[in-house]
Amino acid sequence: MRFLSGIQPSGNITLGNYLGALKNFVKLQDNPEFDDFLVFVADCHAITVPQEKEKLRKNIKSLVALYLACGLNPKKVHIFIQSEVPAHNQLGWVLECTSYIGELERMTQYKDKKEKQVQGVSAGLLTYPALMAADILLYDTDVVPVGQDQKQHLELTRDLAERFNNKFGETFKVPKPYIAKDGAKIMSLAEPTKKMSKSDPNPKAYIALLDDINVAKKKIKSAVTDLDMKVKYDEVNKPGISNLLTILSCITGSSITELEEKYKDSNYATFKEDVANAVEAELRPIQERYNEIINSKYLDEVLDEGRDYANYLANKKIAKVYNKVGLGRKR
Ligand code: ATP
Ligand code: MG
Repeated sequence: MRFLSGIQPSGNITLGNYLGALKNFVKLQDNPEFDDFLVFVADCHAITVPQEKEKLRKNIKSLVALYLACGLNPKKVHIFIQSEVPAHNQLGWVLECTSYIGELERMTQYKDKKEKQVQGVSAGLLTYPALMAADILLYDTDVVPVGQDQKQHLELTRDLAERFNNKFGETFKVPKPYIAKDGAKIMSLAEPTKKMSKSDPNPKAYIALLDDINVAKKKIKSAVTDLDMKVKYDEVNKPGISNLLTILSCITGSSITELEEKYKDSNYATFKEDVANAVEAELRPIQERYNEIINSKYLDEVLDEGRDYANYLANKKIAKVYNKVGLGRKR
């Protein structure tokens, strides 16, 4: 089975990306069911919102180093940069022409990001899910692990695959979502009813994996909670505390119920102190490994291998798609 996933280099990777996505990839790479494992840096997706050139370049490399620092093993995983495999954009266009404007406008991420956009909203923000569908369908991916926030996009991918297959004949494998049981959705520390996002303009809303440890701990300690003073999971009435429970549960492996029991007589300060310490213990080794590899040649070697492998698979698929649609001359 083929496994594929990607993260945008649109900012500093957050604890949300890590607990919701990366940490699970690292676990899954050892699962013998997956005999082909692709993880990429979605740089084309990142430019759906304005990016500064130097920062983008830096974020791309930094994300690759973080993939490795978090434990992805290039002996098992092909790691590549989306823009280095042109077929993503070639298929993206075909799938844009397969999508309806109405269904793209219904996507929650589009609505959310559109609202946050101060300057003009790019057309790419609307058509993003077609490119994401291309990322997945290009490789006949069997399994796509997504966080809850990407579920809607994956459903659209399945719809587009079926629509294309019905019109042009069997071409794409219809992928299965894989929402890990422990692949929780981590919420913003400043507004706990919104998801934690690396592109959030307020740095207090997220913890970046590369945040100074003391800064990260402070962010936990000043996370927005409530006045009820009970450590109890209740997403509706206590979204802040529920989020901290989720974070602690993801890091320690203890269930929410166990944690509620453990902290039933604790005040928020004690509870937050423990969450902050757990975050520190998780981030420290990642940051150490990151610092060792960020400037090494090894990164480029990994990316060259990933690029060549991905292009080999993707070029075969795009040729097939062009033939089905009738683009260019018959190959
Ligand atoms: P952006 O704000 O630029 O969209 P993001 O933080 O949403 O950034 P993405 O690159 O869109 O990150 O998503 C990368 C992966 O992280 C996806 O698998 C997504 O499901 C997961 N993810 C993103 N945010 C969260 C979150 N708050 N909780 C859990 N998983 C998340
Ligand atoms: Mg996102």
